[in-house]
Order: sequence, then C-alpha cells, then structure tokens
Amino acid sequence: MTTSRKPVSAHKRIVIKIGSALLVDRDSGLKAAWLESLCADIADLKRSGAEVLVVSSGAIAMGRTVLGLARGALRLEESQAAAAVGQIALARAWSASLSTHSIVAGQILLTLGDTEERRRYLNARATIAELMRHGAVPIINENDTVATSEIRYGDNDRLAARVATMVGADLLVLMSDIDGLYTAPPHLDPDARFLEIVDAITPEIEAMAGDAGSELSRGGMKTKIDAGKIATGAGCAMIIASGKPDHPLAAIDKGARSSWFRPSGTPQTARKTWIAGQLEPAGRLTIDAGAETALRSGKSLLPAGVRAVAGEFHRGDPVAVCIEGGREIARGLCAYDADEARRIAGRKSTEIEAILGYSGRAAMIHRDDMVIASGQGAGV
Ligand code: GLU
Repeated sequence: MTTSRKPVSAHKRIVIKIGSALLVDRDSGLKAAWLESLCADIADLKRSGAEVLVVSSGAIAMGRTVLGLARGALRLEESQAAAAVGQIALARAWSASLSTHSIVAGQILLTLGDTEERRRYLNARATIAELMRHGAVPIINENDTVATSEIRYGDNDRLAARVATMVGADLLVLMSDIDGLYTAPPHLDPDARFLEIVDAITPEIEAMAGDAGSELSRGGMKTKIDAGKIATGAGCAMIIASGKPDHPLAAIDKGARSSWFRPSGTPQTARKTWIAGQLEPAGRLTIDAGAETALRSGKSLLPAGVRAVAGEFHRGDPVAVCIEGGREIARGLCAYDADEARRIAGRKSTEIEAILGYSGRAAMIHRDDMVIASGQGAGV
C-alpha cells in the first residue's frame, strides 16, 4: 500500500455528512452553537482551497420537535410532514451560519432517481457543479416530503456516498455519534478493537458492521460500510468520525479518533476504469487525423474534428471514438445528444450556440470523460 491517510484539509473536494443527532436535540431543537463551530471549520477548509459539500440530515428530527410529534416510530405521512417543516428550518440554519463566514449556501433536495437515472443524474450533477463554480456550499438532503418507502434511500450515508461519486469528491466524511469502526459493537464486547485504517472492505469488515444506529438517526454501521463501498470503489477516501466535539472537522486533523477507508485509485482513474470497462457504446464518432493527434496528446475531442456521428444516444452516454477506416481508438461520454452532435460535427466550438440555440460545452467529449484505447496519451 502506498500512502497513509492524509489530513482532511489536504483534500480538494470534500463531502461532509452530518447525522441528525448531531444537529438536533430532541427537546431543545437545533444545536446552534455546534453548527456554528462546524461552519467555522468549513470556512477554514474553503480558505485552504477545498470545495465543500454538505449532506445534512435532521429535517425529520427537527420537524418532529416543532410539530410536537410523540417519540417512537413515525408513520410515513408523519415523517413527510415533519420533513416539510424541518427542512425549512434546517436550510435556514445552514444558510445563516455559513453566511457569517461570507459563504453562500444552496439547498439541493434529491430523490433516489436523481442519482440512479442517467438523465436526472446529469441534471443534478450539473446543478451542483454550477453552485460550486460560484463558490457556494451545496446543502443536500433527501427530499423526504415526496420520497415514499419504495423510492427512498432512507439514510443519508448512502446518499452522501452517491453524491461523493457524482461530483468526483476525493473525501467523504461521515459524522455522527459513532467515532468509527470496531471489530465488534464496543458496548457489548469488551474485546472490541478500534480500526483506524481500513485498507479494503472485505467480507470480514462487512461482518463487523453491527447495528450501531442511535435513536435519532437511521444510519447504523451497516449503511456506513455500504457508503464506504460506493465511495472507495469510485476513488474517494472515507472517514467515519464522531461529530460530538465542537469544531469536529478540525478535531479529526488534530488526532481525534476516526476510521479511515482507503480509496481504490483516484476519482479520475476510477471514472476512466468505469468508462473503459463497463459500458457498451451507444454510438460512434468518426474523427479526423488532427483530432486523433489531439486526443493522443491528452486533449479533449472538439466538434471540429468529428467527421461523422453514428447511432442514437443521449448526452452523457458512452460512445466509441473511431478513426477513418473504423478502428476504435477511444471511448468516452459524449456531451451532446446524437442529433445535436450531428449538427455541430465539423464546426468550431464558438459556433455551437448559433447552431443549437444554447451555449453547450466546448468539447464533444471532455478529456476527463475519455479513455484512449491503446494506452497512449490520455489513457488509464
Ligand atoms: N433525510 C433524513 C432527514 O433529514 C435523515 C436520514 C438519515 O438520518 O440518514 O431527516
């Protein structure tokens, strides 16, 4: 194994998941002072150059306090109503707290389909990317008011892992009242050992994930390990840490106990492996010799170098890139639908807006979305 764990502050794009029990007290509601200390940590990370996204639980917990719902399990309608009330308060709290550091917050509410269906996935990803381009911090939660039992994540651990892979994050921090992974539930087994580094999520590691959920949160260790599989498989490291102390992110870098899950590769290599290995191309772009040279030197594929477009595909679908004569030299995710690609093929990127009526991407396939088949140039 190569590197050991890096400090949180050494990462570029960080998704932080906050469990309900950290943010909301059953009796007194929002834990405002704690939230302020967390937002100060987020501001520090942003100052050191990181992009930060937050997946915040707590809507249902907050709403049920406001509505005075009894303890115990809620009916679906009750949790939807609680979420409707709680989400407003939650978003307002984040926005107010981040604004004291001159950080703008943007609320994103996702349902399962937004990360599992390609077109909706691309749409959600584009919105999040645009928010981050403006330096804003996305505050993400499941859209619990419309999610029903069949179509919900139900836990924000896996939602956060999906978000992390969607945005190509290099670190996911799961913060709850659990400080990390033990070989057995520590309150039941005095011999339970704490695991500071997890190199790979093996069946043994999965077996250790007993149900460690607390009353206010759904995500026990099982969903955290599921999240770890999603994140690390996409090249994103994961940390499970206790959020109980004030300044909980800074606490991790100061040595507070936490478990670190090693990523396999980087988000970029994981993405390219996925493009190269898993997908059946939905179409074919034939390119000219100039474009081939550009691709082999690591550049993106511009519309100008595309001679012909075959097949029916949508934006974001995988396509084969062939040279004249038919040999496939690369594979990538096309930034345009097939009919749009046909219309802009052979044209300059500056003409795209006039041809399509909107200003799309300059590249037909961005180099980050492309793998060169021969292993030369921009290949994996
Ligand atoms: N989306 C839920 C909420 O905001 C929380 C789910 C979870 O705790 O994982 O209340």
